[in-house]
Amino acid sequence: MRQIVKLPLEPVLQNMLEEKQAKINNGAKPPKKWLRSKFKNQIKDKLLPSQKYLCCYCEDRIKINDCHIEHFFEQSDLDGKELVYDYQTNLILSCNKNTCCGHYKAEANHNRVSVDYDSLLNPTNDNSKLLNYNNVGEIEASTKIESEIKKVDYTIQRLNLNGQNPVNGRLGAIKSINNQIIDEAMSLEEQQKFIAILLKEDQPELRPYFSTIKDIFGFLIAN
Ligand SMILES: [Zn+2]
Repeated sequence: MRQIVKLPLEPVLQNMLEEKQAKINNGAKPPKKWLRSKFKNQIKDKLLPSQKYLCCYCEDRIKINDCHIEHFFEQSDLDGKELVYDYQTNLILSCNKNTCCGHYKAEANHNRVSVDYDSLLNPTNDNSKLLNYNNVGEIEASTKIESEIKKVDYTIQRLNLNGQNPVNGRLGAIKSINNQIIDEAMSLEEQQKFIAILLKEDQPELRPYFSTIKDIFGFLIAN
């Protein structure tokens, strides 16, 4: 779960969202469809590069037609209603898989298991110190503090981040890098160069499952 730093929206769109939010805050009922596709796409255009084309939760590749705007605070929750149109606080892009991430979280919510937001890690914060991506494709807590471990465990469970799908994705990412290292018979120096390029954060798109790659291969370029 990489920290998402959002590019600002165009002022016209930002103002429109703020007006819509003000109406709800003044007691209007939120509309059934919260936003027209045209405007959703304009938001996606800013979020995709902000997220380096990775799902906010599982870090699988996302594309404009294969992702959705995720309300971190669900619209159906009381907290969510105050944040339906809050770009900075509440809107991020999730992959469309049903077995994990945004849809999985929403589905549980529809079944009235509401989200414990105090325990759910928010991708707009820096959670990197709390999470470790291990070599069997799973996420685990990398903290000894009880309250933080609880948050990590809750987040993994609520988003099903150690489900089959993301685990297979992470293992695939590890395997393809290992294969390339072996196939090209890279020397240690070549491996270091290769990994350094993969882990450069200031490129427009990052490799899917970036945090896994960083935690598994980052040692090669430490120091
Ligand atoms: Zn995802």
